Amino acid sequence: MFRLIHKDRKSKARLGKLKTAHGEVNTPVFMPVGTQGTVKTLTNAEVIECGAEIILGNAYHLYLRPGLDVIKKAGGLHKFMGWGRPILTDSGGYQIFSLAKLRKLSDEGAEFSSHIDGSRHFITPEKAIEIQQVLGSDIMMTLDECVHYPAARDYVEQSLALTTGWAERSKKYFLEYREQSTENREKKQLLFGIVQGSTYTDLRKKAVRDLLKIEFDGYAIGGVSVGEPENLIHEVSAYTASLLPEDKPRYLMGLGTPPDIVEAIGNGIDMFDCVVPTRNGRNGQAFTPQGDLQLRNAEYKEDTRPIDEKCSCYACKNHSRAYIRHLFNTEELLGLRLVSLHNVHFYVKIIELCRKAIRENRFSEFKDEFLKIYNKGGLN
Ligand SMILES: [Zn+2]
Repeated sequence: MFRLIHKDRKSKARLGKLKTAHGEVNTPVFMPVGTQGTVKTLTNAEVIECGAEIILGNAYHLYLRPGLDVIKKAGGLHKFMGWGRPILTDSGGYQIFSLAKLRKLSDEGAEFSSHIDGSRHFITPEKAIEIQQVLGSDIMMTLDECVHYPAARDYVEQSLALTTGWAERSKKYFLEYREQSTENREKKQLLFGIVQGSTYTDLRKKAVRDLLKIEFDGYAIGGVSVGEPENLIHEVSAYTASLLPEDKPRYLMGLGTPPDIVEAIGNGIDMFDCVVPTRNGRNGQAFTPQGDLQLRNAEYKEDTRPIDEKCSCYACKNHSRAYIRHLFNTEELLGLRLVSLHNVHFYVKIIELCRKAIRENRFSEFKDEFLKIYNKGGLN
């Protein structure tokens, strides 16, 4: 399913191809987040025009609304949302622990109340897989507990035992489902395990060892960027990536800003998802190679330049900073759309440039240059 194509000579960055039932994905890859079965404010055609090869959907949200019956009737999430390319779904674990009101956590599963209407639900590792089977995602994730930072060692140890136990059950259920029918097998869904362990390196190591025994199609690094200092984000993810097998894709969950992603690619990570381009875009924050701009600021009032002069997205080809600022000031919806579009385009293009640099064995130089220019102009 995954082919490692090339390794950069001077860094750990790598190029790969991930084969899924809805097409091949070139890695490293950025997956725009489509929480509710939509990349917020953008049409699928626009997401494709940005160059996105795969998107992410949230099992928790889609399970609560519209509910599995609706999606089943539509023939799965791809058909329901009219998206023909690959989809990765998370297991819902992160939202159960962060968004829902958690009622009870046990070896068996997690009982929670919906953040929408308070209705009670019980999700087991098996149920999380079943939900994703109905969604028909190309890549499914196991249910895990994402521990926030800081966390006491005792707690992390206990939590890891729970996550590992859940991973085993998820795999077992996944295999049983595949055995049940040709139709199930033909969906060719992949299952990724998630490495937890907080900032304790020995626990990360143990987590990897245990997951490798279970064998997954790919491995995600979870519990990163959950409140820890910036240097630890990269230390922990680089260390964890170094423990993972070369011939399987590595997915760093939920990260991050453009410099974070470029840094992580240099540490050997292949897949990323993040709400930042769309969420921050809806607040008027636009990303450029020279850093980010807050387009609501008065300094852009008469700025006739596009967000980024070198960008080829629709927003930059047709509109000025002054116009977009005006849209935000007057609460016109087009403003949210234009900046979201530009940001998703920017994230996808940055990763394309990373891939090009890896292919040419000059990733380290590319990274240093990118970070130098980005950090010099950024964060205003
Ligand atoms: Zn643009």
